[in-house]
Amino acid sequence: MAKILIVEDERDMAEGLKDNFEFDGHEVVLAADGESGMEMALSPEFQLILLDVMLPKKSGLDICRDLRARGVKTPIIMLTARGQEIDKVLGLELGADDYITKPFSVRELLARVKAVLRRSPAGAASAAESVHIGCLEINFAHYTARDQQGEVEMTHKEFEIVKYLYEHAGQTISRDQLLEDVWGYDAAPTSRTIDNHILKLRKKIETDPDHPRHILTVHGIGYKYVI
Ligand code: CA
Repeated sequence: MAKILIVEDERDMAEGLKDNFEFDGHEVVLAADGESGMEMALSPEFQLILLDVMLPKKSGLDICRDLRARGVKTPIIMLTARGQEIDKVLGLELGADDYITKPFSVRELLARVKAVLRRSPAGAASAAESVHIGCLEINFAHYTARDQQGEVEMTHKEFEIVKYLYEHAGQTISRDQLLEDVWGYDAAPTSRTIDNHILKLRKKIETDPDHPRHILTVHGIGYKYVI
């Protein structure tokens, strides 16, 4: 089943959809405004995005356009209100895969979701494909990395860290989170160890490691990967 991001500011609607999709076997993450929705939608962990049009901070149409402009290919279904015909057309022109008009039946939405998931090639960028991260082209399936000069040596741990950051693009990742999810409970590295790994990664990934543009420091918390 799929991991679905629902960007919807009407809380009852969002919670209701979440319940229904979870009942149908999907995993659901909610975003309640356009800005957080955009940030989360950049992450390749989602196989589908349900995107309301009228949102605080950033409209669904703007999100859709910006995601496609940044190369995010995650399928998008727009949720439009009755009478927003123009939004439907615009939504599809901006790269949405489908739209559904409120009020809709959950059964109809589930059917649309199934259809869109069937059409999309095995969800988002799969592990078998190479991804571009800063100066590097990384293949997570084969643990290889190259830049313009050729093969770049990376340790297994470096691959794991960069993969984790990549899968959580746009989200602030605390050092504790990295410790827990990348190192696991049994190992006990210090936060200094993490910082050293990040320094080494930046030298490989960033054009200017002293002024990183992809692996950013979030002071007092941890790190954030930006595409
Ligand atoms: Ca709304």
